[in-house]
Amino acid sequence: MTHSPAKIHNERITIAGRMTLVSPSATLQLTSKAKEMKSKGLPVINFAAGEPDFDTPQAVKDEAVKCLNSGFTKYTPSSGIPELKEAVCRKFKDDNGLSYVLENIVISCGAKHSLYNLIQVLCNPGDEILIPTPYWVSYPEMVYLAGGKPVFVPTSQENGFRAGVEAVKKAVTPKSKILILNSPSNPTGGILEEKDLKALAQVVVENNWVCISDEIYEYYLYENQKHVSIASFNEEIKKRTFVVNGVSKSYSMTGLRIGYLAGDAEVVKKIGILQDHSTSNPASISQKMAVAALNLPKSHRENLRKIFTKRRELMLSLLAQCKGFKPFPPQGAFYVFCDISKTGFSSETLCEKLLEEIYVAVIPGKSFGSDQHVRFSFACSEKDIEEGIRRIKEWTEKNVK
Ligand code: PMP
Ligand code: GLU
Repeated sequence: MTHSPAKIHNERITIAGRMTLVSPSATLQLTSKAKEMKSKGLPVINFAAGEPDFDTPQAVKDEAVKCLNSGFTKYTPSSGIPELKEAVCRKFKDDNGLSYVLENIVISCGAKHSLYNLIQVLCNPGDEILIPTPYWVSYPEMVYLAGGKPVFVPTSQENGFRAGVEAVKKAVTPKSKILILNSPSNPTGGILEEKDLKALAQVVVENNWVCISDEIYEYYLYENQKHVSIASFNEEIKKRTFVVNGVSKSYSMTGLRIGYLAGDAEVVKKIGILQDHSTSNPASISQKMAVAALNLPKSHRENLRKIFTKRRELMLSLLAQCKGFKPFPPQGAFYVFCDISKTGFSSETLCEKLLEEIYVAVIPGKSFGSDQHVRFSFACSEKDIEEGIRRIKEWTEKNVK
């Protein structure tokens, strides 16, 4: 696929054609709008933010102070410091049973940057990238920016938003090249269990595709679910999989911008070159902070799981009382994806009304590929969950027939 024609902005400036294909990020836009309204004193309840509300762990913050005082404030290798790559290798071994060496790892400015760079390096104009829908907002836009074509694989709430092999096979054409998986999923909270992943791994290998596995929510799991990485089944699938992860969600370090990926050394090297000529290294201090985060004891994630399990239950039980709302019980991540088709509103209209009329920020499903859903984040206090959903319940009683 070639890029669209350039867009004439005014008599002096023309905007590149590739930018005509991409939309603003609804998640980032709405989150900042909610934060701005709150800073003006409006009583906003923010269910839009895809970021944990707990503080960055103290050991991680201490590391930043140490770095500042010791002058660790200069350029590092563009693809990341060896110490962090070693910590990432240990993490993959301990958590996922995956063995990598430093040449397989690249550190980037957030997992979003890891994904963006990876797609830039792998995707040729016209390549088709299979993306199960509902999808995280940025995947299709990253594909467009690389000149590729996103091809959506439908899933349904009834089957747990699982991308099944049959649906994947239906979407395939000779141009299919990459399958993007995200388990646990943003926005649905659905997960791919071992048997689903094994079947998909077989299709990827048989068709000689590449798999991008975004595992950023791996620590957020409910109902005794266990995380399995698709790369862990055998060498064949491992060789063609890129596992993407980061510290934003697991350690509440969203603003510190550290993400990483593991996979084929040649591709990793090319991402390093791309970083050489674009961002250079991720912030030196953030890299050391990420080392400290990855060295935290396992009790950290267990605590997270306990807190988020309680919030999930509370949100689900309250949403079930809102007229026209049918929430999907998430098995992972920290979002409730809720079918709102019975309310009679489109997802955008509903979200607009909730924000303007009762100051509750929720993300329209349209930006994730489903106009009949909205996304609630439960990365907020139980008090906020109670108050926000109380307002929605009252609102639906008046506005939903
Ligand atoms: N993947 C998914 C599915 C996400 O929800 C996010 C959220 N920001 C990211 C990747 C990127 O995270 P970050 O860039 O903060 O590491
Ligand atoms: N990923 C988070 C979300 O979906 C943060 C915002 C973003 O990076 O898109 O809300």
